[in-house]
Amino acid sequence: MPKVDDIIATACSEKRTYLLENESKTIMQTYEIPVTKFTVAETEDAAVKAAEKIGYPVVLKILSPDVIHKSDVGGVLININTPDEVRKGYQSIINNVQKHKTNARIKGIFVEEFAPKGIEVIIGALKDPQFGPALMFGLGGIFVEVLKDVSFRVAPITKFDAKEMIQEIKGYPILTGIRGQKASDVTALENILLQVSKLVMDYPVINQLDLNPVFSYPKGAKCVDARIILEEKS
Ligand code: ADP
Ligand code: MG
Repeated sequence: MPKVDDIIATACSEKRTYLLENESKTIMQTYEIPVTKFTVAETEDAAVKAAEKIGYPVVLKILSPDVIHKSDVGGVLININTPDEVRKGYQSIINNVQKHKTNARIKGIFVEEFAPKGIEVIIGALKDPQFGPALMFGLGGIFVEVLKDVSFRVAPITKFDAKEMIQEIKGYPILTGIRGQKASDVTALENILLQVSKLVMDYPVINQLDLNPVFSYPKGAKCVDARIILEEKS
């Protein structure tokens, strides 16, 4: 895929192994993985224009090759509702990041569509030293961080594998609708797993991929954060 090749070549030429969120999300779009609409703004005015085009509320995020965990440095603001809030948010993100990481290079501010709350899931890929690229699925938040309730498969996976990966986590009933909650669109999650499998098979240079979180809905799913890390020497 030429677009993906270009993004990877640019990162390599800049000696970056960590792809910026706009780069990772463009790659997801190329593989038909649903992501939130976004624009990169390099000025406050551009951020306001982008927010108007995307439609309020929007989310603002830091775009920096030196910031991997954006919310840890005050680099994510959700639910921004007015042009004034965009301007204030733009500055406060830059201030926060500079406070936490003095020398962080700032490429701009990522202006993004606000995604309504869904059930948070995590879809990832990593390189197993023995088996090569492998896929991971889990529920977000404490499920993955505390309970380590995740499933793995070596890539490439089949539709059947994707289904099994989702069904075998302990938290699976959360996706089928418990306590009056609507069931999640599990097929949409299977499709993302399959597309990620395809992506990592097509691009062995991808060392690690995290879609964290993906919001799962009764109809469809949307990836709100995407991170790709490339192999060191490429
Ligand atoms: P990081 O993981 O680098 O700290 P994220 O992009 O995952 O940053 O943002 C942190 C949290 O903010 C997410 O886990 C999610 O709950 C929320 N969030 C991020 N982007 C959106 C969005 N577009 N719409 C709604 N909520 C979002
Ligand atoms: Mg995240």
